[in-house]
Amino acid sequence: MPRGRQRRGQRPPRDSRPERDLSQWNPKTKLGKLVLGGTITTMGEAIASGLPIREPEIVDILLPETEDEVLDVNMVQRMTDSGRRVNFVITCVVGNKDGFVGLGRARGREVGPSIRRAIDNAKTNMIEVKRGCGSWECGCFRAHSLPFRVVGRSGSVEVSLKPAPQGVGLAVGDVAKSILRLSGITDAWGLTRGHTKTTVNYALAAFEALRKTAAVKVPGGLAERLKIRQGAEQVYVHKLAAASVAAESAAAPEEPELTANGRIEGTDLAEEASEEKKETTEKTEDEADDKVEKP
Ligand SMILES: [Zn+2]
Repeated sequence: MPRGRQRRGQRPPRDSRPERDLSQWNPKTKLGKLVLGGTITTMGEAIASGLPIREPEIVDILLPETEDEVLDVNMVQRMTDSGRRVNFVITCVVGNKDGFVGLGRARGREVGPSIRRAIDNAKTNMIEVKRGCGSWECGCFRAHSLPFRVVGRSGSVEVSLKPAPQGVGLAVGDVAKSILRLSGITDAWGLTRGHTKTTVNYALAAFEALRKTAAVKVPGGLAERLKIRQGAEQVYVHKLAAASVAAESAAAPEEPELTANGRIEGTDLAEEASEEKKETTEKTEDEADDKVEKP
């Protein structure tokens, strides 16, 4: 687990994140209603619809097996009229380990609730990753790695991810490793430049790189040859609508496009990152002690 600026003893126990009761869910967005009503039954369809995923319950229903991981717990302090205010900025990754992964951040005065909100934000910021076997050293034609080389940037950090043959594992830093693992990629080579100790930028850059796999359109023949797979291998179909799916499955799946939502969420994250930078410059003298423990 990457440490970032996290301090000892601040990570709350896992059971502080209770399961949501989905039977009480009353969707407010169009996509939410389509999912609960059973018109949209897979995460691939939800993303292909182009509708923004604004409610985390959508992901809870369509991808019930998601795992989450806290990538960074960052404490920021700010002086106000009434004294010192301590806030936590949490960065979380969520994924089904099979083609879908999301990155989210949240800030708040308490760690536990902020983690829950960061996980929910990650769920509303999911991307569909293209996987494949793009390594000429492998040629196994299983979707275990990246289909081609991708590069992502955030702040000073640049992350380049390359296809690797089976057995290499995730030859990347801890933060990128968590993101790749939850996206379902098991073998990859990574190259990073810049200040990767800034966990947030490292995570954003790795996530942007994965987003590129979704954005690149691959001609059908090549996709077939490289065994490129978009999204999940084992498609989970929302049970409520099992009957209506059979009828719909005849329709050809649409080519998913990079949704406007993804872009907007991405910029939100970047904005928040820069906002945080501002706040860290306002750190008080007490905070200077913390800086010492960083190399
Ligand atoms: Zn391979």
